[in-house]
Amino acid sequence: MNEKKVYHALEIASIALLFIISITVILFFIENIDLITFKIIIAILLTAAILFFLLLRKNISITIQNAKYKFKNAEQKFGRIYDANVLGILISDFNGLIVDANDAFLDIIGYTREELEQGFIRWDQLTPPEFKEESLQALQQLKAKGECVPFEKQYYHKDGSKVWVLLGSARLLNDKRGDAITYVIDISAKKEVDAKTKQFNTIIKRQQEEFKSVFMNAPAYISIRRGPELRYTFVNKAITDFTHRDDYIGKTPEELFPDLVSEEDKEISEKVYRSGIAAKGKRHKARYKNEAGEMVNIYLDYLITPVYDYEGKVDGIATFGFDVTDLVLANQEMEISKDRFASMADTMPEKVWMTSANGRDIIYVNKLWLAYVGKSSSNGWSWFDTVHPEDKAIVQILWSQAMKYDQNFTIEARLQNAKGEYRWHLIKGVPLKNKENEVLVWVGSNSDIHDQKQQLKQLKDSEEYFKTLADETPFMVWKSDAMGNFVYVNKQWTAFTGLGITESLGSGFRTAIPPGDDEERKAAWANAIATKTSYQNKFQLRRADGALRWVYAQANPYDIDGDFAGFIGSIIDITEQELVQQAEKELSAKKDEFLSIASHELKTPLTSVKAFIQLIEKSLNEDDKAYQFVLKASKNLKRLEILIADLLDVSKINAGKLTYHIKEFDFHQMLEESIASIQNISPTHQINLLESARVNINGDKFRIEQVIYNFLSNAIKYSPNAKEVNVSTKVQGNQLIVAVQDYGIGISDANILHISDRYFRVDKTAMIFQGLGLGLFISKEIINRHDGDFWIESEIGNGSTFYFSLPLQTQHP
Ligand code: ADP
Repeated sequence: MNEKKVYHALEIASIALLFIISITVILFFIENIDLITFKIIIAILLTAAILFFLLLRKNISITIQNAKYKFKNAEQKFGRIYDANVLGILISDFNGLIVDANDAFLDIIGYTREELEQGFIRWDQLTPPEFKEESLQALQQLKAKGECVPFEKQYYHKDGSKVWVLLGSARLLNDKRGDAITYVIDISAKKEVDAKTKQFNTIIKRQQEEFKSVFMNAPAYISIRRGPELRYTFVNKAITDFTHRDDYIGKTPEELFPDLVSEEDKEISEKVYRSGIAAKGKRHKARYKNEAGEMVNIYLDYLITPVYDYEGKVDGIATFGFDVTDLVLANQEMEISKDRFASMADTMPEKVWMTSANGRDIIYVNKLWLAYVGKSSSNGWSWFDTVHPEDKAIVQILWSQAMKYDQNFTIEARLQNAKGEYRWHLIKGVPLKNKENEVLVWVGSNSDIHDQKQQLKQLKDSEEYFKTLADETPFMVWKSDAMGNFVYVNKQWTAFTGLGITESLGSGFRTAIPPGDDEERKAAWANAIATKTSYQNKFQLRRADGALRWVYAQANPYDIDGDFAGFIGSIIDITEQELVQQAEKELSAKKDEFLSIASHELKTPLTSVKAFIQLIEKSLNEDDKAYQFVLKASKNLKRLEILIADLLDVSKINAGKLTYHIKEFDFHQMLEESIASIQNISPTHQINLLESARVNINGDKFRIEQVIYNFLSNAIKYSPNAKEVNVSTKVQGNQLIVAVQDYGIGISDANILHISDRYFRVDKTAMIFQGLGLGLFISKEIINRHDGDFWIESEIGNGSTFYFSLPLQTQHP
């Protein structure tokens, strides 16, 4: 029985007592009640009351004793809790002051006992504003009900931070110490964990959602099936899109596709579920009904992994499938075409091969290629090993370049055959591409070009080579047989003459040569054929436009196996040069004619002037003033005479009318006289006769004197800064060699070639030195007519030596 019931019983007891007393009083006022009845009623009532009280007393004493014990026990327990400092405990008044608290509470809020004892700690000040409202409600409750429901709030810690606590209070009645006792539990650790857990949960949730979205939208087929029956709990969009249904969840594949799931498929999934070991497969064939209701095959690469529950037990499977149908079909197609290709390639007379797109793996080589290298299969064989070491680098470069740019290639390289011999091959490769322009394979052939390669050297002399070369030359080229019939004409010939090749062959080429002065050409050509010697000629040829052009033709005989086989000839258009030359010739002829007339006309008056001058010279005294003038006039007259003589000589030479009076004469004597004569009129130079052969020469003394005169006067004229001219003659074999050396301006090699041409004068000197450029021309002519030779040794700036030789007919005198 508890205290409440005791109070209740006491209430009932007092009401019962009041009832008995009331009945007794009433009985006293009833007049005609007999005593016996009265006594009996009283006795019953008293007995009932006594019994009731006896009963009640026992219960009350038990209850009181219990209450005493309980209170004592609670106080002890409370003391222990207070002292143990497991909980924070405080005693406070309703106004907010904390009167007493244990160490645990002080620890929670970070204050000392001194501060507590000084009365500084107030619970209302410890409460942050956001918890004020709640705290006041709790206070109301406490006041009203004597206790408040435990609740969570925060306290300010002394350091300013906030501490989460759980607290509950009970009202103290008649306690000197305060109005309420409160227990406080520090729950900040728990709160932190709660916050973290919440955070984790959001992260996990977000991640789960992310995963789900990734799986949902992944381009692979992804599903999760759970429970012993492996029912779908998740399928991604790829699956629903592909199968055009979205009623997967909660069903098994067998329920969804009763006629499509094979026993094998089922077994694979169940095995993963049972064993917890993932399974994967490649190019797994699955059947599927498309939108049109047709059954089609699809090929999947798949991975099935176990899925675990919270306790780490396998409770389902996740399936990832990748559609590789396109790849498989392409491969199948490839296999078919490869087979087709192989059967075709095996019949080919070439070495044929096929490699992977990167060129590294051999897919196929035909029988001929295998036979060449002496292999029965291409397994484990590297064709690159057969490449000649010297060709490896170039092959590698060209090959890798072709692979890089996906371009056809041709490589020449030597490949080793089964016997170990290297033979030249032309390796050709072509990339085979798909619609996306990606290379699927490389296909190629290796042709044996060894013999051609070897023949290339011979080919140079061969017809083919000749023709190619001839077509490249800028002039007309032809070839004839031994009879002079054309067997070949080049492109330039057909282009120039406008004749076709067949028209030109045989004697057809003659149509391009105009009749007329053809006789000479024909004779020369006939002569060349007869004598099998080279031929040169200049004649006219009709051009395609009808114009007659001057051409220069040249031909050399050629042999085949040592026998004369015909001519190879060339023809050049020289019309322009010819016209220039003709013009020059005409001009020169006119000049010669003029000079011939002029010199003839000049000669007669000159002779009479000379005679008169000689007369005057004789009639004057040497100290007469006029004598010097006459001498000068005579000297100039002499030069004029030589000039006119030269001109006359030239016209005679041209006309072939220069006459010679051949007679034996003493060369040494003639030389000495000539030197003396020149020395006489040339005081600037010393003429030294260094060596002189004493020989007689059979010739025209006057003309040879003329040569020496010309050489010496040139030597003096063209060495204005020198002091000496050396002359020497010597006998060499049966030749007399005469040398005239000067230390003058010299002549360049190029000019030496032309120096004895008519009217030739070296450009630079022509302006400084007087002359006509005829002296050497005449000298050469004279020497030639004496069967002698003429040559020059010279160095620019260092002087020249002019030589001529004359044959010796007689011995020394
Ligand atoms: P000319 O002396 O009248 O010009 P030549 O026929 O004697 O004619 O000589 C031809 C050219 O050869 C000269 O114009 C001169 O340029 C060159 N020549 C001749 N002799 C010499 C020489 N000894 N040294 C340098 N140049 C010379």
